[in-house]
Amino acid sequence: MTQKAENESGAPAKCIGNGGTGAPLVFVCEHASNHIPEKYGNLGLEEAVRESHVAWDPGASAVARRLAEALEGPLVESAVSRLVYDCNRPPEAPDAMPARSEIHEIPGNRALGEEARAARTAEVYEPFRRLLSETIAARPLPPALITIHSFTPVYHGRARDVEIGILHDADSRLADAMLESAPQFTSRKVARNAPYGPEHGVTHTLREHALPTGLLNVMIEIRNDLIASEEDQAGMADMLARWIAHALIRAGHPLPAAPGKAPGKEAACHD
Ligand SMILES: [Zn+2]
Repeated sequence: MTQKAENESGAPAKCIGNGGTGAPLVFVCEHASNHIPEKYGNLGLEEAVRESHVAWDPGASAVARRLAEALEGPLVESAVSRLVYDCNRPPEAPDAMPARSEIHEIPGNRALGEEARAARTAEVYEPFRRLLSETIAARPLPPALITIHSFTPVYHGRARDVEIGILHDADSRLADAMLESAPQFTSRKVARNAPYGPEHGVTHTLREHALPTGLLNVMIEIRNDLIASEEDQAGMADMLARWIAHALIRAGHPLPAAPGKAPGKEAACHD
């Protein structure tokens, strides 16, 4: 997996959308990019680490972009590596700027002072959080929030046999609908709250942006060896699009939006 970081604009977060039908959906990819802004001096890491799952979720952005296009919802991505700031963590979480990730020390994050942590929060997390809030608020109808991630097949030397994780926090409505209908859409090994779950602090985006307002939500984790090629990414996105659409209808979500609602608010991305 040698996809390069992509950050043409220099913005810490971006919204990708096609100005579509105003479908009540918002996709999120917090770990889309392994880009480390120049001033961080690569955080003292070798290239191999910077391209590994430690720095980002390989394949996740490609799948999320195809999903967003297929289901016509905007996609909000972080354009900065989670090693600089993990946008799926609140500023007070120690692993928002991890000093260690799996087996790797992150030299540039060692002994970060309060000031440095606050600066990264302001530069990376706050713009991401704001963009996501604004994108949600700009949808013509309250959207379902769907976050897309990938995980490594081997962690701390142990093989993970789960292939697709369906994660949720206190509100499991959409996750339940997906889990109940999984066999209709995939023969992959699907599991609830695996390979990790809310007890590991991974549901921050859901807790911050969906739970307080009652938006339907789910976090989808895909084992990254299943989405290593463009062909596999396309196949996975196509399957997930059908599965998600089915689960949304089952959970009582209006999909797609009734035409003619909220004229003038059709733009997928909020400017
Ligand atoms: Zn992730």
